Amino acid sequence: MITFSAVSKVYPDGTSAVDGLSLTVEAGTVTVFVGPSGCGKTTAMRMINRMTEPTEGTLSVNGADTAEADRTQLRRGIGYVMQHAGLLPHRSVLDNVATVLRLTGESRKAARRIAYDMLARVGLEESLAARYPSQLSGGQQQRVGVARALASDPPILLMDEPFSAVDPLVRQDLQQELLRLQAQLRKTIVFVTHDIEEALLLGDKIAVFGPGGVLQQHDSPEQVLTAPANDFVSRFVGRERGIRSLAFASAAGVPITPASGAGRGRVALQRGWALIVDAEGRPETWEDSSQVRTPVTAALSEDGSLRAAVDAVLSSPAHMAPVTDRSGRLIGAAEGTDVFAALAGHARS
Ligand code: ADP
Repeated sequence: MITFSAVSKVYPDGTSAVDGLSLTVEAGTVTVFVGPSGCGKTTAMRMINRMTEPTEGTLSVNGADTAEADRTQLRRGIGYVMQHAGLLPHRSVLDNVATVLRLTGESRKAARRIAYDMLARVGLEESLAARYPSQLSGGQQQRVGVARALASDPPILLMDEPFSAVDPLVRQDLQQELLRLQAQLRKTIVFVTHDIEEALLLGDKIAVFGPGGVLQQHDSPEQVLTAPANDFVSRFVGRERGIRSLAFASAAGVPITPASGAGRGRVALQRGWALIVDAEGRPETWEDSSQVRTPVTAALSEDGSLRAAVDAVLSSPAHMAPVTDRSGRLIGAAEGTDVFAALAGHARS
């Protein structure tokens, strides 16, 4: 657990970067510091491992005041990932990760073994371990950066705009990879970004920073979307707030027409439509009454959101959503008219 108590930072030139920040980051959760550039997010984060010292207030990690901690000791428990991976250019990928472990006293052999493990964990092939950082793509370098930060198994991870220098598709991969890793590792993560979409995806909690380093709202993504604390947050969250909030509205009330024989071959649905499913029973292809086929690009899981339901209907030539169980097996279909009725009900509530 990380606690900021009335923390302020005024730089020597008089810039007030963070102003009276009080906030708790619960252990094992992801908190995203988000806001426009220059609002003090990075400064706030860097005070956690004392790369920057506060001018007022106190910070504690698991109840212990960081100002009283030994700085090296403190940093040992805190991994750090930055925007450009910051890898050592003249060391191999493997050595970049293993070096951290050597510093914490692991033998050369153990360090290499753990480093290989960490590279696999972040989705990098073993064959890349011998390369130098410049021989990797930007996305791969960021993965190495994450592997290095996690190598010594620190309970806390600080991530400073780690995915903002890579292209959008790679960025999406890295985001999904982080969610997958976090589901296994349950680190206490503070993640800085200026991208609200990224914040909504990754955060258990979101802290929205405003001008002068003043915290505007600290809440769940759903609350930030559906109940912005003030005009600043509302403007920052932006025009698509209504659409995005549908991701938090359950589609559980939408009627589903169960498909008999679902999970095998060709499954007949309403209005002459059928779905072809794969060997695992996952919907693959739409087929109309004249056997014209169209690939399925979106489906609704039985515990899915209204946003997923709308997306599945609008992506389907049949104007209905294929509905699957949690493992992706087809169980039936929901009619577009029913999804839009649920949407109207949600808008009224
Ligand atoms: P963000 O991460 O939200 O972009 P920063 O924490 O980097 O914001 O910066 C907050 C404010 O502090 C900005 O006005 C920035 O120019 C200023 N600042 C950051 N670092 C320093 C520094 N070392 N000296 C003086 N001002 C700084």
